[in-house]
Amino acid sequence: MARTPLIAGNWKMNKTVAEAVSFAHDLLPRVEGLNKVEVAVCPPATALHAMGEVLAGSKVALGAQDMFWAEQGAFTGMISPLMLKEVGCKYVIIGHSERRGRFGKPDETLNSETARVFGDTDASVNLKVKAALAHDLVPIVCVGEMLDERDAGNTDAVVEKQIKAGLEGVSPEQVAGMVIAYEPVWAIGTGRACDAEEANRVIGVIRRVVGEAFGQETAQRLRIQYGGSMSEKNAHELLSQPEIDGGLVGGASLDVSRFTLIVQAASVIAKEVSS
Ligand code: PEP
Repeated sequence: MARTPLIAGNWKMNKTVAEAVSFAHDLLPRVEGLNKVEVAVCPPATALHAMGEVLAGSKVALGAQDMFWAEQGAFTGMISPLMLKEVGCKYVIIGHSERRGRFGKPDETLNSETARVFGDTDASVNLKVKAALAHDLVPIVCVGEMLDERDAGNTDAVVEKQIKAGLEGVSPEQVAGMVIAYEPVWAIGTGRACDAEEANRVIGVIRRVVGEAFGQETAQRLRIQYGGSMSEKNAHELLSQPEIDGGLVGGASLDVSRFTLIVQAASVIAKEVSS
């Protein structure tokens, strides 16, 4: 089944509103004519409204980097799904390893046992996924193992647990319409991407787990991205893998030329596959 790849930029805590708007104006003409690829940019919350106005009706969708599950209330610092819909978001990243507090950089105070910075857990990820779907937002759910988990041979078990817990209670139809990003934590922001064949293998494991829980048709429709030091240099090899349906791109998405090259790679590969 042909799945349209999604290239989504996760800007993390980068760019002012003025810089974000300028980027959007620069990006649009570069990607407007590209076929067989979807594009999204996820700026910081402060830039969502202004970027939403620039991107409205265009090829580039707007995404948020996180949200809370309630619609409103006494939740200082949080942003609700209603607020994201209002400013034009289509996507919302949920359970990024930086939100779960799972950092990849070596630091003895941060490992799979101790690292909890913003406090997301599989349970809160599940609440956010359900809230996003209830408000017609497409969740991009991040899963992935830390280096010590990979070294211990636990990669497949870690992603299986995150998938099962994160998607609990979601219908097969809803799962088919969402996006999962396989992001090995040790590859995020380190310049050390996962080997393309290994990323393809783990994404195959994720698709198998989804197939067992939600049915084969759902698993075949679901888009599963790779994320972790994807760049204009390795994008072609990663995106050529049959299981990889696009990328969640951090650092390389901050530069409009680099990001465009990754989007172009996805478009060319998708065309090659379908021709
Ligand atoms: C990310 O933030 O999801 C990410 C993959 O970052 P980077 O591309 O910088 O590794």
